[in-house]
Amino acid sequence: MPFSTIIEPFRIKSVEPISFTTREQRQLLLRSAHYNLFLLKADDVLIDLLTDSGTGAMSTHQWAAVMEGDESYAGSRSFDRFKHSVQDIFGYKHVIPAHQGRAAERILFHVMCKKGDVVPNNTHFDTTRANVEYVGAEAIDLPMPEARQPGTVLPFKGNMNVAALEELIERVGREHIPLVMLTVTNNSGGGQPVSMANARAVSNLCHQHGIPLYFDACRFAENAYFIKLREPGYADKTPKEIAQEMFALGDGCTMSAKKDGMANIGGFLCTNDDLLARQEENLLILTEGYPTYGGLAGRDLEAIAVGLQESLQEDYLRYRIASTAYLGNHISERGVPIVLPPGGHAIYIDAKAFLPHVPLEQFPGVALAAELYLEGGIRSVEIGSLMFGKAAQMELVRLAIPRRVYTQSHIDYVVEIILRVWEKRAQISGLQLTYEAPFLRHFTAHLEPAA
Ligand SMILES: *Cc1c(COP(=O)(O)O)cnc(C)c1O
Repeated sequence: MPFSTIIEPFRIKSVEPISFTTREQRQLLLRSAHYNLFLLKADDVLIDLLTDSGTGAMSTHQWAAVMEGDESYAGSRSFDRFKHSVQDIFGYKHVIPAHQGRAAERILFHVMCKKGDVVPNNTHFDTTRANVEYVGAEAIDLPMPEARQPGTVLPFKGNMNVAALEELIERVGREHIPLVMLTVTNNSGGGQPVSMANARAVSNLCHQHGIPLYFDACRFAENAYFIKLREPGYADKTPKEIAQEMFALGDGCTMSAKKDGMANIGGFLCTNDDLLARQEENLLILTEGYPTYGGLAGRDLEAIAVGLQESLQEDYLRYRIASTAYLGNHISERGVPIVLPPGGHAIYIDAKAFLPHVPLEQFPGVALAAELYLEGGIRSVEIGSLMFGKAAQMELVRLAIPRRVYTQSHIDYVVEIILRVWEKRAQISGLQLTYEAPFLRHFTAHLEPAA
């Protein structure tokens, strides 16, 4: 790259004000939100890095397409555009729209899985796991072993452990594995990419045993760009060619258009199997909508059709990956422990290493997230013991970067605040629970400074 300054590959035509608060105000706001950043009002947040899902900015082309939305119930022009755009990239025969990724997952697993089945994945996203388990099947994560070591730097830490997959197929039998899933990029594994070589090895193994391979494709464009940058033989291919090559290794996919669809809502399910597609469409009609809209408005289908193509533009991907890496590298250089190397959509701070004096029962991740808000109005999310209880593998604070929303100066500010908090880390103390719901407690929990 010729310049070290990251130039946003867009200029700003419409602006949305963000609100500044004082430290004293944030102290009060934090207390009334019971130290749980989910309970803050978004208006009281300066830089919102809670999630990259559905929080992106649409382009002028997407907004223009929105006005072209055909809201006909059946056979709309917008569905045709959507289907062509999806097929151009993904190449699958049947394209089934859904209101978001989890709706596609529910339909897929309902049709393909039954009680006693096993679904392997490099790492299941939480809604994917929940939808597998909801039909009585078992969700098994088979990441490469290094995926659980935050400090280990490898180019494709999202890869599936192919030897473990082979062992699993032998152990439980092909007849109990209705499909294998590969998540690109591996979100729950730190936003780390999967290599083409790994996808090919997984595909070969699946097809040797007659098992279909489905991609959880949410961040397929970021994954394609990492392959271009890091995998030998791909430097001269376009991200679209790389994505097409990868999807040709599978039999279908699920997708949340709130990620690399560059839209604020939407998703889809694809398959090459005619019989499955018919069953999936029948289920879609029952709960989502007619197969040419699937719970989305025609204007949403238009926005996704354009967004999918924009997510593969190299100028955009260069900025996207560089700006996430910029944040990660600038804090990591100064000693802040993060999951390495920086992923595509987020930076994960290792809160256990950041606050070694805070015991795990006092939620170091939640305490650090609260401190980042107090110091600079930044909202992040704990991915650790509050979210997963005793099942937590690591204590992380995720800073997810919305697409095309923040500029380099916003990111510089985030770096500055994190480094300030790093300097005074010894003074940060833990939190204790005062209320928890029986399930998914992190969304509504109340906490207070530990006694
Ligand atoms: C977001 C996400 C999903 C679920 O999509 P929703 O649109 O939030 O329902 C599934 N898998 C992965 C990897 C995701 O990141």
